[in-house]
Amino acid sequence: MTLYNTLTRRKETFAPIAAAAGLYACGPTVYSPAHIGNMRSYLFTDWLRRALIFGGYTPKHVMNITDVGHLTDDGDAGEDKLQKAAREKKLDPWAIAASVTARFFADADALNIQRPEVVCKATDHIPQMIAFVEGLLEKGHGYETSDGIYFDIATFPGYGKLSRLDLDAQVAGARVEVNPEKRNPFDFALWKKAPREHIMQWDSPWGKGYPGWHIECSAMGLQYLGERFDIHTGGIDHLPVHHENEIAQDEALLGHPMVNTWMHGEFLLIDGGKMSKSLGNLYTLGDLEERGYPPMAYRYFCAGAHYRSKLNFTWDGMDAAKTAYNRLLAAVRAHRGGTGNASVEPYAAQMRDAVLDDLNIPKAVGALWTMARQPERTQAVYDAALAIDRVLGLRLDDAGPAAGQSGPDTLPEGIRALVDARQAAKANRDYPEADRIRGELKGLGYELTDTKEGVVCKKIS
Ligand code: AMP
Ligand code: ZN
Repeated sequence: MTLYNTLTRRKETFAPIAAAAGLYACGPTVYSPAHIGNMRSYLFTDWLRRALIFGGYTPKHVMNITDVGHLTDDGDAGEDKLQKAAREKKLDPWAIAASVTARFFADADALNIQRPEVVCKATDHIPQMIAFVEGLLEKGHGYETSDGIYFDIATFPGYGKLSRLDLDAQVAGARVEVNPEKRNPFDFALWKKAPREHIMQWDSPWGKGYPGWHIECSAMGLQYLGERFDIHTGGIDHLPVHHENEIAQDEALLGHPMVNTWMHGEFLLIDGGKMSKSLGNLYTLGDLEERGYPPMAYRYFCAGAHYRSKLNFTWDGMDAAKTAYNRLLAAVRAHRGGTGNASVEPYAAQMRDAVLDDLNIPKAVGALWTMARQPERTQAVYDAALAIDRVLGLRLDDAGPAAGQSGPDTLPEGIRALVDARQAAKANRDYPEADRIRGELKGLGYELTDTKEGVVCKKIS
């Protein structure tokens, strides 16, 4: 299996350090519901996790929940995102975190995203974070200011290696630093002293405060995956600050790298640009469902682009994905119970090679289509589709009609395909689409009835 390592900018053959492949995924910041861009990042991690399993590895997948310390500017200025949400909504930050986390997992389930082995909340690991910061201070990598403890990047020569930052050029042209106590504009907060109104705060050797966002992931990665582990993922926006800073903390404390492979998922764009609340173009999975697009159609939509490519979201694109997804389900299921001899092995090999080649999901879906489109109904095609679906996660096996069950085999091919497509839409809880197809069948002179024994399709006499 090969994976692209952002650190080396190369595809590398994956060789895990130990029997379990350690995978740390930066998790959601739970101040407001995840949008579909966030969910694209977790689909990427899910495909990675599934591909590892498919490749014969046993992942130990750890995902954090950021419920404190992530500031509005993603660096160390601004307000804690949870504190801000609590202030604006006049709610308790703990209650916001709990409800947003629950919703996150509901969305993840609806997208058929598998749960990590470990889900860890930042606020449950404050002692580990304090110990990490103390370790860095003991080794001379930090200093105290009036508002916190900062990492001193001058003490870590490797700073900037992930983002290939030319530090001297950057520092010379750096924006005016808002915090005059920082020695270098790239120094970053390990621990923040909390003003009285900051609701989430803990005792520490430096008074009451809360952890910096980056130290959270370093401390929890160390806790659950140890001093050296295999893979660390996140969205591409994490590369220049969050992950750069994690690397500095890890290596300054341990004296060696903690992570072998850094992987980053590209962004979902909307109409070619950034999603933002102010533009009113930020959608959640619930918004998609309200407009008639089931979550699994969004999974299929994301499967159409490699994780290292930007993906542009449009409603037309979503329409096409929904239709194609329903057709794919129907095409695959039509092979169930088939006795033909359609070819399987070349496609099975293509699909397997694609998913193990730096998660080339779109290529695997392409091969799946070619295989499933073959007219001869063949059980082995269905079996091969389900085998690759362990990685794709498209729920190709949901209860739907087997070949021959959607009515007598005497139904014309086109009608039968429509019946299958309608069953697939129903299984996918896409009821508007199921109804539309039923209407289309009626227009063609066929009546569909759902019975206890399954669906019956009859020519209207
Ligand atoms: P957050 O909840 O803000 O910490 O972000 C959760 C994850 O979503 C992170 O891995 C981000 O990098 C990622 N992310 C944020 N915006 C997008 C986007 N538009 N497309 C893809 N991933 C994103
Ligand atoms: Zn993180």
